Amino acid sequence: MTNSHQKKNLRDRVIGSAEAVLERNGAVGPIELFEQMGFLSPVHVNQWKQGNPHYEVLEGHVRCGQKKRDQTFKFFFEWVAEKKLEPIEATYSSASRSGAQSLKITVDGDADKEAFFRTQFRPANLSDAKKQRLKKKLTKTPDLVVYQVTSKSSNCSECSAEIFNGECIVLEKSKALCLTCADMDHLEFLPSGNATLTRRSKKLSPLSAIVLRFNRSRKRYERQGILATSAAIDEAEEQCAADVDQRARLRERAAERRADDDVKLIDEMAQLIQAEYPGCPASKARSIATYTAQRGSGRVGRSAAGRSLETQAITLAVAAWIRHQHTNYDELLMGGVERHEARQMIREAQQNVIRNWTNS
Ligand SMILES: [Zn+2]
Repeated sequence: MTNSHQKKNLRDRVIGSAEAVLERNGAVGPIELFEQMGFLSPVHVNQWKQGNPHYEVLEGHVRCGQKKRDQTFKFFFEWVAEKKLEPIEATYSSASRSGAQSLKITVDGDADKEAFFRTQFRPANLSDAKKQRLKKKLTKTPDLVVYQVTSKSSNCSECSAEIFNGECIVLEKSKALCLTCADMDHLEFLPSGNATLTRRSKKLSPLSAIVLRFNRSRKRYERQGILATSAAIDEAEEQCAADVDQRARLRERAAERRADDDVKLIDEMAQLIQAEYPGCPASKARSIATYTAQRGSGRVGRSAAGRSLETQAITLAVAAWIRHQHTNYDELLMGGVERHEARQMIREAQQNVIRNWTNS
């Protein structure tokens, strides 16, 4: 591959990643960009944000060299300028019992560099209300976090009490404290599963924490529930019992609205497919649109590009459909052919259908 090719690929990746984060979060900065591009591991960023002392500084863990980093920033800031995005400062802090602690990003703690990494970019044309909401989101103090112990047993570094598998510890400055030493042993564990109950308990509880546990096979921390005062959980349960019918109705209405949106999206996408591929039968165009736009399927039709009905997303969706429906691709995969090879083997058949559909 030539150098200019590599550069173009990196540029595409930078812009694609930046756009994805901007769409998802409403703003994008260097840290979020690096995470999206795989230069920072999500586990690492999450644990850093939660103040886990084993992940103290972020910069030292960027998984790419200085040259690539410089090029990434060059492409990123060109894109920021082109889109006329405006800077907005984010705070990165973790919760501790003594209040929010500002998180260190860079190894040397240089003020300018820290400010550089804390600056995100948002669209210029936001309404004042949206600006306020975004600012609140980017400067929000995170929740306190406790960890369920996964080892057989360990000891509190302050009182030496034994902590058994499944019990919670608080990490503070590389020390593991039992809940008693952390003054949190009056809290009760509420397992995940009822989002409304969790949200209400947290809101009602003067002190609360998120409970995480490391899943070894998935290599990530998973949320188990929260700690909150018993009184808060009791009151939240009462509130939930009082409006259970009302919430069920709201959920139904929301589901109906989503279904309406889906129908509209499918109609528009089917029309676009027919415009691009006049030879594709109308019923098939609709099938492709339905398949592609299916909620939560992770298929291209639900990507940001698909929703804005970009031609490239349509091309990809049609190509994928043809691969699965008009070639023996799936049989090849079932027969153990490697995906890349299988794609080569069916390419001609796939191209034939595309040609037929394009020229009619
Ligand atoms: Zn202790």
